[in-house]
Amino acid sequence: MDRILRKAIAGTMALLLAAAVTGCSRREKTPAPAPEQNQASEAEEVKLEPAEPAVGVGRIMPAVVVKKNRTICIDPGHGFYDNGTGEASYFPEGVYEKHVTLAVSNFLNQALIDRGFDTIMTHNGTDIPEYDWDGNWIFNPNERIAFINAQEADYVVSIHVNAAGNPDACGVRIYYNDNSYKWNDWAEPAALAIKEAIDDTVEITAPTTADDPSSMADSNFAIPRETHAASSLIEVGFCTNVVDAVNLVNEEWQKSVANGIAEGIERFFDNLENP
Ligand SMILES: [Zn+2]
Repeated sequence: MDRILRKAIAGTMALLLAAAVTGCSRREKTPAPAPEQNQASEAEEVKLEPAEPAVGVGRIMPAVVVKKNRTICIDPGHGFYDNGTGEASYFPEGVYEKHVTLAVSNFLNQALIDRGFDTIMTHNGTDIPEYDWDGNWIFNPNERIAFINAQEADYVVSIHVNAAGNPDACGVRIYYNDNSYKWNDWAEPAALAIKEAIDDTVEITAPTTADDPSSMADSNFAIPRETHAASSLIEVGFCTNVVDAVNLVNEEWQKSVANGIAEGIERFFDNLENP
């Protein structure tokens, strides 16, 4: 139930956010039935409940840490039994969000290593993550957040795929949260650097957006909200947009968006060290 509500909210928010987006190529085939999660009709009918604090995640503000270790934690959204979105989309049958997030994350991991960063992946899609305390092998933001916070990475990126009832909604959306219990105030400038790098280097369907969704209760947004390190949740495209969907399952495009994200992270750290 929670999951359905969460997805309903995500779908509705995606719809609202999509309103401002123009320039997407229109779909060329018969519209797929709207995904179930997007049938929550009106935004005002969806009551946003405050998200529960993450298990094991304290609100105690650690001392301000400005490390220059360049350790990046990469979180491939969903995985294992949790497919994520992808039903009633333009993905080929059997392809889901979890496949795309893992592929992009693997390319991002390599792109960051190539740029001299140290990296940590929250999971590799194959081995049961050590933080899977409840044994469900499902997307559990609280478990992931506790694991991520224990790594003391300098920056965290969680990769996801978007879905919307509006087939014209397209492009990359970056969500960050600059709140008082972050180690530093990097969340916004890092997100903007990634946005710029993606727009500079990746073939995209719409200008990338970067927003602070502080008011959103969707548990996906728990990752940018609750991690101690500055972080972003990047929806790398819409499986419900025909052009995005083709890109999202294309290895070259996956590599390209991963390189764009890595480029943005590198620009941000370079600027931090040599302003
Ligand atoms: Zn997701």
